[in-house]
Amino acid sequence: MPARDSFLLYDLRVEVIASDTPMVCNHQVGDAFELSGENLSFPPGRTFPLYPLAALLPLLPAKQRETHPNDWMTTDTDIACPDPNCGGRFRITRLRRRRFRHGQTTRVPLPSTTRRRPAARRAGR
Ligand SMILES: [Zn+2]
Repeated sequence: MPARDSFLLYDLRVEVIASDTPMVCNHQVGDAFELSGENLSFPPGRTFPLYPLAALLPLLPAKQRETHPNDWMTTDTDIACPDPNCGGRFRITRLRRRRFRHGQTTRVPLPSTTRRRPAARRAGR
């Protein structure tokens, strides 16, 4: 049974895919990195250009979380390179869900669930 303060996040893979337009930046089809929790992992010796990374970063925490089936964040996986002359696309894939514990990711305590409300409020007065 998972710990009471646990939660799940997807590990992500971001991979460069081609489009009909040639690429300009220093990314090539198949270049990729992964995100697990707050940690980015790049294959040894590989690089990834700064500007596409900067464009991708705001999307990744949302993509790590469970989203509504009708939410575009659930269905849309391909992100365009921010260079308008570059045909690079970046495919974000949810790999697996990984369990984390609140107490190991922040110093902010969870709200207490054992504290009882005053009797008058419980009765709706
Ligand atoms: Zn590009």
